[in-house]
Amino acid sequence: MEVAPGLHRIEAPLGDRYVAMYLVVGSRGALLVDSGVADSVTDVLLPYMDRAGIERSSLRYLVNTHSDFDHVGGNGALRDSVPGVLILCGETDRPLTADIERMISERYGEFAADHGHDDPESTKDYIRSVSRSEPVDIGLRGGERIDLGGRVVEVLHTPGHSPGHVSVYDVQADALMIGDAVLGSGLLTVAGTPAFPPTYRDVGPYRATIENIRKLQPSLLLTAHYPVYRGAEGEAFLTESSDYTDRVEDAIRRALAASDTPRTLLELVRDTRDQLGDWSDEASSLLVYPLLGHLELLEQRGEVGRSEGTPTRFSLAR
Ligand SMILES: [Zn+2]
Repeated sequence: MEVAPGLHRIEAPLGDRYVAMYLVVGSRGALLVDSGVADSVTDVLLPYMDRAGIERSSLRYLVNTHSDFDHVGGNGALRDSVPGVLILCGETDRPLTADIERMISERYGEFAADHGHDDPESTKDYIRSVSRSEPVDIGLRGGERIDLGGRVVEVLHTPGHSPGHVSVYDVQADALMIGDAVLGSGLLTVAGTPAFPPTYRDVGPYRATIENIRKLQPSLLLTAHYPVYRGAEGEAFLTESSDYTDRVEDAIRRALAASDTPRTLLELVRDTRDQLGDWSDEASSLLVYPLLGHLELLEQRGEVGRSEGTPTRFSLAR
């Protein structure tokens, strides 16, 4: 659907969720934000463009907001169909954006060695089956401007969910496309029920990103997995997101205070999950992302210490 003149939101199915791609159309070319998974390109994006009368060859740029498979998995399929497209992403996210196996081992597998958490093999196989590694042409740092002909977009560095996460601002529509830069109090299914926790990772940058977006006050706040937010709805989503980070921090403090012995990351997941959302066991385990982020921040502030040994254990500093 066209959410503003020349700005299209294209939703593709993703299991019981969806991923929204965005297409910004100028007089000299179009720019796509995120490629979803392989099917998103072949079964949804390209048929949409054909129906809307947007030439495939007019697609000059693809910006991947961050290195998650549901945002870059369609890169290979897009290059097959539109060979001239330039692929861009945040420079810090570039190695994993261009290599699905590294994404699986370094991003999703980050917790395996020290914390005893890893995706099941079935999840890894699913990711491989819907994604294809494809080289990235240009790394972005934020501050770049791209002229599409009568229409300029600006790139913002919006870290927190990933270190190199970028957002795209469409000046004409006053619309900010933020991918997964801000994640409310959790991801939702198509039906609007809780799917899994907000998987932000670096808490300081995440909170700063929320505040930076708040200052911009875009008329349209466009995410990958939530409805279109207009005006005050975007503001409310940002407030919900920052409030949630405070709830997580409080829950960790309470759990550590209530325990006589140091807690592992997975024990803290079990200690806090009922206070933080309503998810299945497997979905709750994704709390490892924000919990470890908060533990690192509390450690930097001298409030939390960690023990040597595997798995790592955390306790309040006394
Ligand atoms: Zn996503």
